[in-house]
Amino acid sequence: MKILDLVIIGGGPAAITLAKNIKQEREITIFRPEDHSMIYCAMPYAIEGIMPLEKTLKTDALVTEVGAKLIREKIVDVNYKNKILISETGNKYTYKQLIIATGAEPIIIPIKGVDLQGVMSFKTEKDLKTVMETVSNELIEAVVIGAGAIGIELAQALNSVNVKTHLIDIFPTILPNMMDEDMIEVPMKSLENSGIQLHMNEKVVELCGEKTVETIKFDSGKQIDFDSAPLVIFAVGMKPSIDFLKSSGISIGRTGIHINSKMETNIKDVFAVGDCCEFISGITGEVVLGKLATNAVPMARMLAKNLLGDDRSYAGFYNGAATKVVTHFVGSTGLKELAAKDLGYDTIVGEADMTTAFPIMPFAKKVKLKLIADKKTNKILGGQIISGEPVTDKIDKITMAIQFDITVDQLVQLSYASQPYQSFFPANNLIVQASEQIITKRNK
Ligand SMILES: Cc1cc2nc3c(=O)[nH]c(=O)nc-3n(C[C@H](O)[C@H](O)[C@H](O)COP(=O)(O)OP(=O)(O)OC[C@H]3O[C@@H](n4cnc5c(N)ncnc54)[C@H](O)[C@@H]3O)c2cc1C
Repeated sequence: MKILDLVIIGGGPAAITLAKNIKQEREITIFRPEDHSMIYCAMPYAIEGIMPLEKTLKTDALVTEVGAKLIREKIVDVNYKNKILISETGNKYTYKQLIIATGAEPIIIPIKGVDLQGVMSFKTEKDLKTVMETVSNELIEAVVIGAGAIGIELAQALNSVNVKTHLIDIFPTILPNMMDEDMIEVPMKSLENSGIQLHMNEKVVELCGEKTVETIKFDSGKQIDFDSAPLVIFAVGMKPSIDFLKSSGISIGRTGIHINSKMETNIKDVFAVGDCCEFISGITGEVVLGKLATNAVPMARMLAKNLLGDDRSYAGFYNGAATKVVTHFVGSTGLKELAAKDLGYDTIVGEADMTTAFPIMPFAKKVKLKLIADKKTNKILGGQIISGEPVTDKIDKITMAIQFDITVDQLVQLSYASQPYQSFFPANNLIVQASEQIITKRNK
C-alpha cells in the first residue's frame, strides 16, 4: 500500500484553505464524499434568487489546481496506531500525517414527527435543491425552527419568494447567541413587519401528521396548524461530524475534537481544524461555540504555515459574526452583556447612536454600537452593532481591541477618519463615544 504523505478528511473551507496554502510543498490527498464543496454562506441568497444555485458550488479545481489529489470517498474508520484510514467502500489508505476537517452537521432535535415528509435540515447541496424545487412547486407555507443567523437568513429568503414563513425560537428574541435583547428589538420588529410570523419563547415538542406535518405543538400548549404540507427546516445549531471517530482513541469534548493552540490532537501526527473541533474562548479560556467559516479558515491557514515550518499559535476564538435582518446589518463579537454577567464579569456598557454618513447627507442611515467592558480590568469583552450599512469592518475593529487586550482608556484615544459619505461628523466616532461613556460611568 502506498503511504500517502498528508491526508485531509473533509472538503470544506478548512480543507480548501490547507490545500491552497500548502500547494505542492507537500503531497496532499483530500477525502470528500460529496459532488461539490459549497459556499454555505450564500445558500439562502440562492433561494432568494440573488444568484443561481450553481454559484454556490465550488469547483474542485480550487484544490486540484494547487496540486492536491481529491478522492471522493467517505472515511468511516481510522486506526492511528498503524496510520490506516478505511473508507465506506472498504478501501484502505495509509498516511504519514492526518488532518481531520470533517466539519459539522445540523442538529435535528429528537422529537416525535421529525421523520415526516418535508422535515429537513439545511446544509448540503441536496438540501438547497430540495428547498428551491419545493418553492418552485408552489410551496405555500414553511417553518424555520431556530432564529440564529442561518435560521433568520433562511426565513427571510423563503418569505421573499412569497412562502408564508414561520420562525420559531425557544428564546424571547432572534439571534440569541449574538445580540442582547435591547439591541435586537428594532430589527426584530422589522422582521415581523416584513411578514414573517415570529413564535418566540416557544419550545417545539412535537410535529404531528400522517405523512406530512399538519400541526406543530409547543410546550406552552399553543400550536401551528397547516392546511397544506409545509417545509419544516431545523436550524437549531450544529454538531461536529465525528461520530466515526468516537471510539478511535482521539480526545473529544462536548462540542468537538480537543485541539491545542497548534491544532494538534492527543494523537501524534493527527491534527484537526474547523467546525469538527472544540473551541476555546480567547476571552474566558472556557469552551465556546463558533461553528463559523471565519474560525475554520484561520485555523487551517495557521496549521498550513506550521506544517511548512512556521511556529505560529492560535490565541483563541472571539466569534466576530454578522448577518442581515431586513434592512438592518447586524454584527457582534466577543461576549454579550448577559453572557458576560452570567460568567461573573462586572460589566460596564457604553452606547453610541450616530449615522453612517454626515447626518446632513440625505442617504445617511442610523448606526448603533453597544460596547461591553470589564470593570475590573477595563478590557473590552464584546461589542454589538446595528446599522443601515455593512458592519463587518467595525466588528473586526472591536474584535481587534478584545484580541489584543486594548482597554477602554486606550480605545477612547482611537485616531479615526471622517468624510461626509462615509462616517459621522469629525466631531465624533462610534467607538470613541461608547468608550467615553464607559469611562464616565466607571469614574462616577
Ligand atoms: C447555511 C449556512 C450559512 C452559513 N453562513 C456563514 C457565514 O455567513 N459566515 C461564516 O463564517 N460561516 C457561515 N456558515 C458556517 C460555515 O459554513 C462553516 O463554519 C464552515 O463551512 C466550516 O468549515 P469546515 O471546513 O470546518 O467544515 P465543513 O464546511 O462542514 O466541511 C466538512 C467537510 O468534511 C466532509 N466530511 C465529513 N465527514 C467526512 C468523512 N467521514 N469522510 C470524508 N469527508 C467527510 C464533508 O462532506 C465536508 O466536505 C454557514 C453555514 C451554513 C450551513
